[in-house]
Amino acid sequence: DASLPDLVIVGAGLFGLTIAERCAEELGLRVLILERRHHLGGNAYSERDPETNVEVHKYGAHLFHTSNERVWEYANRFTSFTDYRHKVFGKYQGQVYSLPLNLALINQFFGKSHTPDEARALIAEQSSEVATEDASNLEEKAISLIGRPLYEAFIKGYTAKQWQTDPTELSADIITRLPVRYTFQNGWFSDTYEGLPTEGYTAWLSKMADHPNIEVRLETDFFAVADDYKGKVPIVYTGPVDEYFGSSEGRLSWRTVDLEESVVDTDDFQGTGVVNYNDQDVPYTRIIEFKHFHPEREKTHLPGKSVIVHEYSRFAEEGDEPYYPVNTADDRAKLLKYRELAQAEPMVLFGGRLGTYKYLDMHMAIGAALSMYDNKLKPHFTEGAELTSGGIDA
Ligand code: FAD
Ligand code: UDP
Repeated sequence: DASLPDLVIVGAGLFGLTIAERCAEELGLRVLILERRHHLGGNAYSERDPETNVEVHKYGAHLFHTSNERVWEYANRFTSFTDYRHKVFGKYQGQVYSLPLNLALINQFFGKSHTPDEARALIAEQSSEVATEDASNLEEKAISLIGRPLYEAFIKGYTAKQWQTDPTELSADIITRLPVRYTFQNGWFSDTYEGLPTEGYTAWLSKMADHPNIEVRLETDFFAVADDYKGKVPIVYTGPVDEYFGSSEGRLSWRTVDLEESVVDTDDFQGTGVVNYNDQDVPYTRIIEFKHFHPEREKTHLPGKSVIVHEYSRFAEEGDEPYYPVNTADDRAKLLKYRELAQAEPMVLFGGRLGTYKYLDMHMAIGAALSMYDNKLKPHFTEGAELTSGGIDA
């Protein structure tokens, strides 16, 4: 059927855009992207605030970082990146500390200076009450890594607010990568490459779709038009996997974040991009001040004003944006059943954050899409290899 595209992609986020770009550019395929929002880019989408001209990340702060050479090279085809290096500060009981846990924080918190060796000895002593290998939940794991006083100040309240769940009931791996640095290095990420797209996220993401073989159809829900394509053309589906199957195995649980945006009457509200609020009795988890992500744009921002966002975390209900997979044992059991269903679904590949129920950073979404292109789509379109999901890709 000549009116059908060669490939349909559900979702114009980074996963879908990467697949579309590769298939159109390298294979010359005609690609149709269906996107139910009014814009492309998925959760990485941003807009300039019309009043202040500050770029606002509409679905929460997005900082690009990667150690993957191929992903870095690929992203740089569509945008350059600034030299922004992300830092996070944490407010606790009226003081501001430099995160992640490092020598500056340890010195300030304990009110005296420590050499790296002294700090190591102190934390070793404070964390001795639980052995890391015996830790069975997030609280025990954190105490085994950093000791109880630092856990209670910086982790306990923040985690309880983020997850709305007592840390003794959360999985230990949420903070497995919690860095503790015995230096003054306070960069938030430890990757080789880091930066923000020079012209903004939307310019980057639009450029990926800017190809004569790619059509992006906005405000179009796949489920409203599925019969036109299902079983007729290959489909890459990046929406929620449970939704694809009508939640037949039950709904997977997600956390959502309420983002309360406001314009404040000051040039500088907090002096940096992100401040975490570690006290449990402060209802929000953090405040983002977007202009600090682009100090090089200072002259283009309206003086005397700033855009900030308060973040409040809670469980997602029907109609909320699904942000973070909660991933309880119950969720994992359901996911196994969805994987079986996905495997049996002809000509449909499941990918991306929602399609695999995995918290993927942007570089991971791009990397996973490049792998799906190499391993599934290219062999299918160039050699006629059978298109099977082989389980949910990630
Ligand atoms: P998405 O961006 O979610 O795109 C999926 C798209 O599919 C959406 O646009 C959706 O509307 C569409 N869709 C779903 N169902 C349908 C349907 N039935 N029909 C049509 N369209 C549909 N990553 C980082 O690297 N650094 C960060 O600092 C960072 N911060 C984050 C902060 C928050 C609050 C969140 C939630 C995520 C953050 N991420 C960050 C992760 C980043 O957003 C993801 O890596 C990226 O969005 C994954 O792209 P994706 O294409 O898989 O999914
Ligand atoms: N965390 C914490 N205190 C902090 C920052 C992070 O306890 O000040 C813990 C918390 O459990 C959180 C996890 O580390 O869920 C991951 O934090 P991150 O800021 O990376 O979360 P994200 O940016 O993905 O919301």
